[in-house]
Amino acid sequence: MFAIAIDGPAGAGKSSVARAAASALGFAYVDTGAMYRAIALYMLENHIPLEEPAAVAAALPGVQISLEYGEQGQRTLLGGRDISEAIRTEAVSIATSRWVAHVPQVRQFLLDLQRDLAKRANVVMDGRDIGTVILPGAQLKVFLTASAEERARRRALQLEQAGEQACFQAVLEEVNRRDAQDAPQLEQLPPDGVVLDTTGLSFEQVVERLTDMARERMDKEEKG
Ligand code: C5P
Repeated sequence: MFAIAIDGPAGAGKSSVARAAASALGFAYVDTGAMYRAIALYMLENHIPLEEPAAVAAALPGVQISLEYGEQGQRTLLGGRDISEAIRTEAVSIATSRWVAHVPQVRQFLLDLQRDLAKRANVVMDGRDIGTVILPGAQLKVFLTASAEERARRRALQLEQAGEQACFQAVLEEVNRRDAQDAPQLEQLPPDGVVLDTTGLSFEQVVERLTDMARERMDKEEKG
């Protein structure tokens, strides 16, 4: 199996780039952020006190996440219900990065699920700890980043397209806050990772760089 790990801060364009690269390469795309968000949504819906890690951990056995692949790409299911849109609200983003992602049992629960997916297919997997913790043996590890301002601009656009109100200053503050909260996962860059700064690059240029790197590595693997 060939695995591409993509890590980086919120709003760097990881998911759209990873999705496009997966489609160009014929790989499965795995959005691990969606899995964390699904757990947060479950906790919110079931009125689990998020600020109590023990309560969140105790509720985990009730969480049933599955991923489906169709024409619209990855769909995220919670107990069989399609929640792909429901996990994109700011309330879920905040619950995820402030509380749920920091519970060790949550990370362990998803580690098993994510490794299992990479055993069954060639994957492009994106998240915060993929190259370091989840798939340290990934053949290509990319750290995708962009300036905070550029990421906030992209995020605001995404929110507007989803029909939510977006004030640039508030989004920028949110980006900075999430960077600080995600720092424990993001601090450790794998020594064999490649940094791809997308500030000033077009979406197509980023996807092309990524797929070129992947094809180069795949060629090397075949020859080696
Ligand atoms: O990637 P996305 O922004 O959807 O992720 C939502 C949140 O889930 C992140 O802000 C982070 O707190 C958490 N996350 C994580 N590890 C991952 C993926 C996401 O901690 N591999």
